[in-house]
Amino acid sequence: MDTAPAENLRDRVRGQLLLPVDEGYDAARKIYNAMIDRHSAMILRCAGAADVNAAISFAQEHNLLVSIRSGGHGIAGKAICDGGLMIDLSRMKGIRVDPEKRTVRAEPGLTLGEFDRETQGFGLATTLGVASTTGIAGLTLGGGLGWLMGKYGLACDNLISADLVTADSSLVRASARTQISSGAFGAGAATSE
Ligand SMILES: Cc1cc2nc3c(=O)[nH]c(=O)nc-3n(C[C@H](O)[C@H](O)[C@H](O)COP(=O)(O)OP(=O)(O)OC[C@H]3O[C@@H](n4cnc5c(N)ncnc54)[C@H](O)[C@@H]3O)c2cc1C
Repeated sequence: MDTAPAENLRDRVRGQLLLPVDEGYDAARKIYNAMIDRHSAMILRCAGAADVNAAISFAQEHNLLVSIRSGGHGIAGKAICDGGLMIDLSRMKGIRVDPEKRTVRAEPGLTLGEFDRETQGFGLATTLGVASTTGIAGLTLGGGLGWLMGKYGLACDNLISADLVTADSSLVRASARTQISSGAFGAGAATSE
């Protein structure tokens, strides 16, 4: 692939763009299931939602196949595509607990262990899975079965809202009540905002 468009994307983002010739590319394309051996044309390690937005626009402009990686624990390996653009969210690890509301805002690159470490500092927890290196994003999208589900439901039952970048590059906050513009999880039993 011509690398000029890639240089254009590099200039538009805060995160790290990796091409096959770049150091770190091979490490970035590895996921939990070592049987998956795919080579994306480029990997964008996003630093924030604006980078996701730029990646989606870029993929549209260049008609690229896109895949999305968070924790990289999906056994089928859908997080990485051959050719195309991998939107890698694994470095987006922001997390902020609100002890009064018993909620937490969490970015998609967090693993279960990282999420738990922060919420437990405030005496809070919510349903996640059993293996601490799994990603919170893919797990929640799949429902999310874990230790606390008997009492508090699945991970998805405790999701209050999620920031989404749509295929037309709009940032929306999706929730049961609103459609405005960051992801929040209920921490503990309560799911109200
Ligand atoms: C060792 C192990 C233990 C597990 N234990 C449990 C468990 O106890 N409970 C449980 O419920 N599940 C469990 N799982 C399954 C796990 O929840 C799923 O594989 C989940 O998809 C992993 O999420 P991830 O973010 O780590 O993976 P990824 O491979 O990054 O993503 C998985 C899928 O979700 C998509 N995706 C990821 N992030 C986003 C995003 N931000 N936006 C849109 N799409 C996205 C990817 O494109 C891919 O299709 C386990 C898996 C493993 C390997």
